[in-house]
Amino acid sequence: MRFLSTRGQTPPLGFSDAVATGLAPDGGLYLPESLPDLSGDLPRLAALDYPALCADFLARFATDIPLETLRALVAASYPRFTHPDIAPLRTLRPGLHVLELFHGPTLAFKDFALQLLGELYGHQCRVRGEAINVLGATSGDTGAAAIHGLLGRPGTAIFILYPYGRVSPLQERQMACTGAANVHALAIDGTFDDAQTALKEIFADQDFRLRHRLSAVNSINLARILAQCVYYLWAWLRLPPAERATAEFVVPTGNFGNVFAGWLLRRMGVPLGGFRVATNQNDILHRLFTTGEYRLGPVLPSLAPSMDIQVASNFERFLYYAVNRDPAQVREVMAAFRREGAVRLPGFRADGLRASRATDAEIPGLIARVHREFGYVADPHTACGFQDLASDRPSVVLATASPAKFPDTLRAAIGLEPVHPSLEALKSRPIVRHRLPADAGAIRDYVRAHAVR
Ligand SMILES: *Cc1c(COP(=O)(O)O)cnc(C)c1O
Repeated sequence: MRFLSTRGQTPPLGFSDAVATGLAPDGGLYLPESLPDLSGDLPRLAALDYPALCADFLARFATDIPLETLRALVAASYPRFTHPDIAPLRTLRPGLHVLELFHGPTLAFKDFALQLLGELYGHQCRVRGEAINVLGATSGDTGAAAIHGLLGRPGTAIFILYPYGRVSPLQERQMACTGAANVHALAIDGTFDDAQTALKEIFADQDFRLRHRLSAVNSINLARILAQCVYYLWAWLRLPPAERATAEFVVPTGNFGNVFAGWLLRRMGVPLGGFRVATNQNDILHRLFTTGEYRLGPVLPSLAPSMDIQVASNFERFLYYAVNRDPAQVREVMAAFRREGAVRLPGFRADGLRASRATDAEIPGLIARVHREFGYVADPHTACGFQDLASDRPSVVLATASPAKFPDTLRAAIGLEPVHPSLEALKSRPIVRHRLPADAGAIRDYVRAHAVR
């Protein structure tokens, strides 16, 4: 299987190279050249446990990794999840389910992809005998999950940029209290988008990137999309059969990576009923799906900080399909967006997606309502999914983080402060972070001085 850039101006790569490269050299994002058809395989897949399902799914894409090796990498990716189902599907009432994606080491859904990505990087180091320096920007959970995928792994170092003062104290502790020598938590003066802009500039410097064998870890990596397809498949196979064709998957959304994975799975012949993109008050996607215009707004810090994003980087992958896989049109739209900060999408069809939006004024009320009606404690990201629940069909709300990560918001909403032992343990450990300006030059200097060779 080969992987193409959405912008069509770089040669296709195999799975391992596309994962190692992250952002394509032409600025595009990698996608599979063709999609497998799973429709005939679903009864067999229903009998597999989570790691077996994951390996079976990925084997269709990671054709350059021997099957036994791939199975071992996947098997090593999920043992640190604390729930036996890995991704339990809980039913709150008939026709309303929650897919809990927060039982991994950092208590957010990003562990699904980043535990696997850590194994893939380790595999790559062993095969090539070369060190890897991983660099990423985070609005909170990506950085923590990436760090926990790589911490202490020989031959790797990880540098995570995050907006200083704009991630929750516990999220920061998950990044800055690991005690691992190969982990660098870099607190940037600016927003997440500022950090991402600096990162893009660093990755555009081919010479620097090759010299330090830099690899990107953020929501654009191909491995993340594919690893995230698996839990949609897992959940769909566990729905009551009568609900499978219509159930709407509700996805708390920032960079569009999570919901895109589900949407892509549907193109592989798994008939998921539909999707709702649930945003917070940073609602570029909600505006897109309601008006057809993709227009940049200011980033508003919110109670659901991992969704405080305006440029939804994975949206380019959806756009690629929306323009019938024509890279010239993708380039045109992305250039216009960069130039104008807004673009009307040509022939835009929402194709099974709708959107909802929850402001900070609404999130505590949503948490309280879910608690009152179902006795369920939702974190502020997950709570956005309970806005505007479909009344005419079943819903599967993806629970993207543990409520224990957001004690202040939970206390204010329902007078309860959920705790989790792994977070309690962090509170007594020292924070090791480095403050840097949101400037590519300063960040490059830091990486140059601390990269593994
Ligand atoms: C990252 C994150 C999101 C947003 O996911 P995207 O893939 O960026 O859309 C939502 N909720 C939580 C808790 C997250 O960590």
